[in-house]
Amino acid sequence: MPYIEQLSPHVADLIAAGEVVERPASVVKELVENAVDAGAHMVTVEIQNGGMSLIRVTDDGCGIAPDELATAFLRHATSKIRTEYDLEAIGTLGFRGEALAAIAAVARVQVLTRRGEDTLGATLFIEGGEVLSQEEVGCPQGTTMLIRDLFFNTPARLKFMKKDAAEGAACFAAVQRQAMAHPEVSFKFIRDGKQELLTPGDGQLRSAMYAVLGRDLALGFAPVTATGDDIGVSGFVSLPTCCRGNRSYQFFFVNGRYVKSASMTAALEQAYANQKMVGRFPGCVLHLQVKLNAVDVNVHPTKQEVKFGQERAVFSAVYYAVLSALGGDKSRPQVTAEAVKATVEPPRQTTLPLHDFTTPRRAVSPSPPPAPRPVERPVERETAPPSRTVVPAPVRETAPASPVPPVSAVPAPEPVPSLSREVPPAAVSVPAKAAAYPKPTSSTLSEKEEVPWRIMGELFRTYVIVEQGDKALLIDKHAAHERMNFDRMRSVDYVPMSQQLLTPVIFTPAPEECAVLLENLEALDKVGFEVEDFGGGALAVRSIPDYLDVGEVPSALGEVAGKLSLTGTTGERERQDEIFHTMACKAAIKGGWKNAPEELERVVKAVMADEVRYCPHGRPVCIELTKTELEKQFKRRT
Ligand code: ADP
Ligand code: MG
Repeated sequence: MPYIEQLSPHVADLIAAGEVVERPASVVKELVENAVDAGAHMVTVEIQNGGMSLIRVTDDGCGIAPDELATAFLRHATSKIRTEYDLEAIGTLGFRGEALAAIAAVARVQVLTRRGEDTLGATLFIEGGEVLSQEEVGCPQGTTMLIRDLFFNTPARLKFMKKDAAEGAACFAAVQRQAMAHPEVSFKFIRDGKQELLTPGDGQLRSAMYAVLGRDLALGFAPVTATGDDIGVSGFVSLPTCCRGNRSYQFFFVNGRYVKSASMTAALEQAYANQKMVGRFPGCVLHLQVKLNAVDVNVHPTKQEVKFGQERAVFSAVYYAVLSALGGDKSRPQVTAEAVKATVEPPRQTTLPLHDFTTPRRAVSPSPPPAPRPVERPVERETAPPSRTVVPAPVRETAPASPVPPVSAVPAPEPVPSLSREVPPAAVSVPAKAAAYPKPTSSTLSEKEEVPWRIMGELFRTYVIVEQGDKALLIDKHAAHERMNFDRMRSVDYVPMSQQLLTPVIFTPAPEECAVLLENLEALDKVGFEVEDFGGGALAVRSIPDYLDVGEVPSALGEVAGKLSLTGTTGERERQDEIFHTMACKAAIKGGWKNAPEELERVVKAVMADEVRYCPHGRPVCIELTKTELEKQFKRRT
């Protein structure tokens, strides 16, 4: 081992900077928090090239004394705490004294600042942690931080930066969160010279939400107010009918700090139990006020996670506050009626817990490869009038493409779930209409070990019954089809069938959704989505997969974004797979649909050819029931 030595302050700063300054959005967050702590009424954030070439944050706060200016950029230099006891009751957003040092360590920084009591201000240049100069200047009261060439001296970090549009969207999202955290401050966001946000700063959370989320969305929220001795909860939560396919619209704040909190999330969602549809998530902008010493904010370098002294009390406070907001919303009787309807008549998707199929869909086959063109003809449906139905070309009644494996191989490698345990024997009945299905599809490749099979019918419009030798197989048609789609999407020669829209769909996703979608434009392109940054937090969608309706675009992309946020910063391949999963499900036939026999046969063939074993989520697509097992159940054998 080489000898041990304490690192130089510069290297220590670079290491620390790695924790605090991950990307331009982290710089924006830290600088905006400093501005808020400085008592600013107006904060302007301006970025260029996604914040990589320039971030400028201007505030009208208290300013910094000229003789303290260089000190502010030292590590652990802060005006916000003094002693260890102060750590127990932190009332400011910052307190670690790390942000300015971290930012200056990895960028070229200029600051201009003047206090109210001074006639002249000061400007300081600092680059890679080294102070270059400081001079007196005339400038307005407050502070302007200019951050140029972020990561100019840390090429390894630079390599990880996403495209400007994605980094810019993340910066925007950071400002939007701060705007909802501090409605008393007016926030302006300018990207590449274009103003994209201005909040009034009138102290009203609702007006900040209007500006950030848009009026339409903000209207789908009900107000929450609950004040207890120790905990106050205020803000807005989604009406049960306005819940969404993911959690992107959940914003929690504790004492003005944006946080991620598992207990607050759980409390919010439990309050909606039986009120919202399965697979939907409420949105919220919820502010929790707690005593300063009841929360530890010093558990995470970026302070996004907090620890409550009384986790249970926080849970209850949020839970009951939300519950009473939902129950007490007498001003919207029709909405309550809708919510009740959703519980009384569970929509079909409640039986399919993995996905959120809110709108009844037409029957759709997987989007076929470019040639031959699919035949278009209506297929009998019960759920909704068919709009445009695509079915595959009829399947030849000859041998399956590949040899049918011995049944014991379906599904491997896990033990085959035993039907006698899953379903009571009485539930296994073959519909009398079995004759409507195609004749036995036997194979001519008899030299291989294979047993002919035939489709006997379908149970609950969900499970296809197949007889093969002395076994009966039940195939989950949705899971199997989803898997087929997924595998095809993953194949190298897959070309998505997409429809070019005459008028692009413009929509404004949640701030984080927007960022995550912009980070994955190429992956989206691979499923047939052509998406562009429209500015102002909006996206323009120019092409969509052919199996999607235009009206479904926002929810489908929202779902994709939600899944991608959950996978976090995993590799490109994982993110692409996540998109394939979501879209494979959307393109698949659903349980409950009435499908043409040829469609079912196609799916069964893939399963029987052992091409499909598990759905992309790992659920089996096929379970089997042996003749022996049946005989035991009927006491024909012991
Ligand atoms: P922290 O916010 O944790 O104290 P920072 O490194 O972010 O640490 O900032 C160091 C100090 O610089 C702050 O404590 C504050 O006194 C001063 N400061 C930073 N930004 C501003 C600002 N915009 N206006 C006034 N003072 C500021
Ligand atoms: Mg700070």
